[in-house]
Amino acid sequence: MFENKKILILGMARSGYEAAKVLVTHHNQILITDQKEQDEKHIKELEDLGVTFILSDHPEDLLDKSYDYVIKNPGITYEHAVCKKAETLEIPVTNEVEVAYSYLPKNVKIIGITGSNGKTTTTTIIYELLKSAGLPVHLGGNIGYPVCSLINDVNEGDILVLEISGHQQHDFIHFKTDISVMTNLSPVHLDFFHTYENYKYHKSHILRNTSLSILNKDNEDVLEVSKDITCRKLYFSSKQPADCFYQDGKIYYHQKEVLEEKNIQIKGIHNMENIMCAYLVAKEFDVSDEIIKQVLKDFKGVEHRIEYVNTIEGVEFYNDSKSTNVKSTQIALNTFKNPTILLLGGLDRGHSFDDLKTYLKNVKLIVCYGETKDRILEFSKKQNIPCEKFETLEESVKYAYKESEAGDVVLLSPACASWDQYPNFEVRGEEFKKIVNSFKEEHEKHS
Ligand code: ADP
Repeated sequence: MFENKKILILGMARSGYEAAKVLVTHHNQILITDQKEQDEKHIKELEDLGVTFILSDHPEDLLDKSYDYVIKNPGITYEHAVCKKAETLEIPVTNEVEVAYSYLPKNVKIIGITGSNGKTTTTTIIYELLKSAGLPVHLGGNIGYPVCSLINDVNEGDILVLEISGHQQHDFIHFKTDISVMTNLSPVHLDFFHTYENYKYHKSHILRNTSLSILNKDNEDVLEVSKDITCRKLYFSSKQPADCFYQDGKIYYHQKEVLEEKNIQIKGIHNMENIMCAYLVAKEFDVSDEIIKQVLKDFKGVEHRIEYVNTIEGVEFYNDSKSTNVKSTQIALNTFKNPTILLLGGLDRGHSFDDLKTYLKNVKLIVCYGETKDRILEFSKKQNIPCEKFETLEESVKYAYKESEAGDVVLLSPACASWDQYPNFEVRGEEFKKIVNSFKEEHEKHS
């Protein structure tokens, strides 16, 4: 498919860079266009391989009938002038995952994980389980490792565990999986997809192109998008009997108790659902319960997702910096039964905090900061929950620590994106952890 072709890469970033590196080795002629500055080292490396760059305000002028493909960054919408022009010229538009797929050796097994929430956690658990069982497995996709960056290390018969976003699925042409997992569906990313119907349709592409789907029995939208799909289906549930289900602190597989929540490090029903997805995948590869139990006993969760940080004088600190919307904060609050001091704040998208109302029963104090602080203060007053506002996260964490007592949880689950004060949620989470760990060091010095 991608041999001796003329290709425009729209938007470089890491995925465009990795795609270009692979494509040039297959004698393709590559032009990359981007409006943002890119890593100088990457540009030099690609130029040395014969790739051309044009940093242009009107990249659509670059595209003409002589091109065979447009490889776009999945974040770029189909309203982009280049995509519209490609459509007029009947040039296929796709992405880096499809490129990698076309070059994979035979008999590679692909597990694709998608859903509105829980993708990264589920993908990581699946990878850890298969790796611990000694299987030849690779981790990639939307999780931060473009699939093109893996393919040189993939051999016949290997397993690829890939987190797949809805945006990526929108661009797929031939991409197929052996197993597709859908954790859940809820209306998100509607800025990109415009309607929930459109989002659901594209998000379920990998269910229509697979041999086995692992599906959430409790989510009506998942049931709806999968109802006419003819592949084999396995269901998980935290509410009712299913192939794998959770009930009263235990996980059952074909009616037999297989795991106990108390022996699993990561907390919350949502994580039990992620684990059930992973369990069902692992069983397809005959991974033993002993290995699964050991991995889940040790697995601390993915960084910045309700991540345990430290305990100081009986106060537990959790970093949920990945929570960039109210829905994620609801999930985090549902995870804890202890009195909770909640740190909220960040970029103001004008979104309401009202949907947190019914989740605040254990919250004894809200500490807010960043662009949204005034609106959070107002919201907290209406809920009769004590609230203090500060400019920065650091001041907020210090205050939360000062106000905490043994048995409390201090939870950073901001319900806002980080971009008003940080480059991304990872930097925000790192800073939180650094501050908490400095309290711990101080405390140990004085005790
Ligand atoms: P994603 O990759 O889909 O964004 P993550 O695994 O990174 O998902 O988790 C992000 C946040 O989503 C978590 O901090 C938690 O609040 C929430 N979450 C995780 N798993 C689930 C799930 N199965 N159902 C609902 N929410 C979840």
